[in-house]
Amino acid sequence: MNRLPREFNILEIEKKWQSKWEETGTYRFDRQDRKRATFSIDTPPPYPSGDFHMGNVLNWSYFDFVARFKRMRGFNVYFPQGWDCHGLGIEVQVEKEHKIRKREMAPDKFRKLCEQLVEKYIAIMKEGIVRLGCSVDWTTEYRTMNPDYWRRTQLSFILLHKKGFMYQGTHPVNWCPRCETAIADAEVNYEQHEGTLHYVRFALEKGDEYLLIATTRPELIPACVAVAVHPEDNRFNRYIGKKITVPVVKRNVLIIPDETVDPDFGTGVVMICTYGDKADVKTVLKHKLPVTIILTEDGRINEKGGKYAGLTIDEAKKTMVEDLKKQGLLERTERITQEIGTCDRCETRVEILELKQWFMKTRILTEQVEKTANEIVWYPDYMRFRLIDWAKSLDWDWVISRQRVFGTPIPTWYCKNCGEVIVAQENWVPIDPKTEPPRVKKCPKCEGTEFIPELDVFDTWMDSSISCAVHAGWPDSKDWRRLFPADVHPSGIDIIRTWAYYLMVRHLALFNETPYRSCLINGMVLGADGRKMSKSLKNYVATPEVLNKYGADASRQWAAAGGATGSDIPFRWPDVEYGWRFLIKLWNASRFVSELLKDFEPRQDAEYTLQPLDKWVLSKAERLTERVTEAFEKCQFNMAMEETRNFTWHVFCDCYIEAAKDRLYRPESYGEEKKKAAQYTLFTVLHRILQLLAPIMPHVTEEIYQTMYAAEKGFKSVHLSPWPKTDKTLIDEEAEKRGDMIMAVITEVRREKSEKHLPLNRQIETLKIYAGDEETANMIEEGKEDIRGTCKVANIEILPESGDGKEVKPCTDVRFVAEY
Ligand SMILES: [Zn+2]
Ligand SMILES: [Zn+2]
Repeated sequence: MNRLPREFNILEIEKKWQSKWEETGTYRFDRQDRKRATFSIDTPPPYPSGDFHMGNVLNWSYFDFVARFKRMRGFNVYFPQGWDCHGLGIEVQVEKEHKIRKREMAPDKFRKLCEQLVEKYIAIMKEGIVRLGCSVDWTTEYRTMNPDYWRRTQLSFILLHKKGFMYQGTHPVNWCPRCETAIADAEVNYEQHEGTLHYVRFALEKGDEYLLIATTRPELIPACVAVAVHPEDNRFNRYIGKKITVPVVKRNVLIIPDETVDPDFGTGVVMICTYGDKADVKTVLKHKLPVTIILTEDGRINEKGGKYAGLTIDEAKKTMVEDLKKQGLLERTERITQEIGTCDRCETRVEILELKQWFMKTRILTEQVEKTANEIVWYPDYMRFRLIDWAKSLDWDWVISRQRVFGTPIPTWYCKNCGEVIVAQENWVPIDPKTEPPRVKKCPKCEGTEFIPELDVFDTWMDSSISCAVHAGWPDSKDWRRLFPADVHPSGIDIIRTWAYYLMVRHLALFNETPYRSCLINGMVLGADGRKMSKSLKNYVATPEVLNKYGADASRQWAAAGGATGSDIPFRWPDVEYGWRFLIKLWNASRFVSELLKDFEPRQDAEYTLQPLDKWVLSKAERLTERVTEAFEKCQFNMAMEETRNFTWHVFCDCYIEAAKDRLYRPESYGEEKKKAAQYTLFTVLHRILQLLAPIMPHVTEEIYQTMYAAEKGFKSVHLSPWPKTDKTLIDEEAEKRGDMIMAVITEVRREKSEKHLPLNRQIETLKIYAGDEETANMIEEGKEDIRGTCKVANIEILPESGDGKEVKPCTDVRFVAEY
């Protein structure tokens, strides 16, 4: 057998295997293979952000653990990788880097800049995925910004339009005035903000009474369409039905009853504006109130705001407060903390505007989403409720149009004469309506011949939420159903409400079928201080720093062992360092084993004279295999990792190798057969350890496998070798009990030597072991040779009676006395 060198550089080893795996196509999905069952992973195509951060390391480690485990389990694994390019974040970044606004530039020029930035970012992130050792099939790589991908997004839109899921409508939408686009509920973050509550006098139309209204948004006073009180609030319900004058703008509105008014908030009287928040939207709808939108798309007051027209929201607020003061209408102010919605991409406060948008009917699918979420498997199980609760909480359908440049074009036109919507035919796509007219001669309704292109583009989730079908080969491959639904959809806990949800509704609507059979959830990566890792919090650790220092296999151990699947995982340097130390331990143990096996020729179907400790460690290895297999099946990576690390470090290295050494160093006192048995055991158990560690530590296990085992085992990679099957006939409870006893004696005798500051190889003249009873004496007797050899004992006496001496923990009835 080949020996492992003493010196090794894990970073070089990792790099070497990453290139070799790619060169030899180790992880390619085999389309021709019809024998093995397929296992498809719905790898989420990430937004290229230019930063493969530790959160990504956690995600991709999870995907890869599953991919490698399933591959070894005999599946034809499909592990694709794409890039979800059309993020709003890219537009924001391009504007920042080039100090431009997209509205001031030709759209195709702006698009080019976005594409360039995306390519730069993809390169960085791809390097991260490769360096982490992910077994991605890179022949599958795709970009959603390519027209060939547009084709899929557009086709799915056309099909869903035909099915009645897509519609255009003027509805209130979340609007980011900085990004100047509509955004979906899922892109709004709710945060606590400090604000000022203004107590403003609203005079009743008749008489000289007034009602006091507390508002944090006095700038919206010109958009006030009603004033509401709780119908059972005796302080105010006598005013219901009366008219009240909106201050400054001097417009009269109705006082209406509404159960949702909280009499304890503010003054108990509220102004209904179009729109201050989502509650206003509901109230306006319920009471059929008029709508006065006073904001422009770029966050200014429009002509309906009278004298405030042209001001920004903040300027309008200031001016309004001054005006109220001047007119004696502002009674007082107070500081409050309130929850406000902000744009996920730029943190600007989200406004609610009414605009014509494209929507997908998603709420009609809520029951089906719930049913499907209950049918599929979730790791961990309770995560299904995140999806179900989110689906049920949605008030609005999904707004799928965006007023942006960098996105998949919506394939529609409008008749200039009558406004009729022309939707592209299935065979027209990919198509950009801005550069190409519809392929019809005239409007089907009015026979008009002039058309206006749709300028809006799709929400980027429209691209990525068909990934399950696209990965499977839809719509081009005839047998795309072979890979559909995906066997696992991995998702971060923070994107269940987007990725997992949109995938579900899109595929249910398109194919009436679940897109994925199981959902694997990862938590967030926290800083060492327990807070979410972020550059601004100074708890941020850059991935290259970690990978450059300790390599991928140590980092992946952190990802596996850092916490239970689905829980948030703190990044702690000591965890990676522990992974690194374990890697060195594994290397050194393997190197030592390779020395001990230099004259060993494993014989097929040979009968080895297995000794008690051989049977002991082999039995334990089988049990370990059983537990680790189950842990991987349940995506409990931390269990798989800890079990294997503990076994390797303590059972195999500290106990078995130490005890077996003497048989290999001095075969003359044991006989050649017993030496061979120890060699066989070392050979077998180390191989098993490598197999169990391979999904988590792919590089170092491959290096050791290739050096020591490839010639014998015959697989071109440890990752293409079959996962070990538990051999129940090797599980031997008696052998484990006996071995535990013998190991306990050895450990305790060695401990006594070190407590007495004696070298471990110091000879013991006589070792008297008081077993306490006949049965225990017989057990220890079987390990007599091992105890004698490992502890360097000249005379050993094993007595069935009790006696004084040092306790052998944990069996305190057993004691021994060593004479030097
Ligand atoms: Zn924004
Ligand atoms: Zn027409």
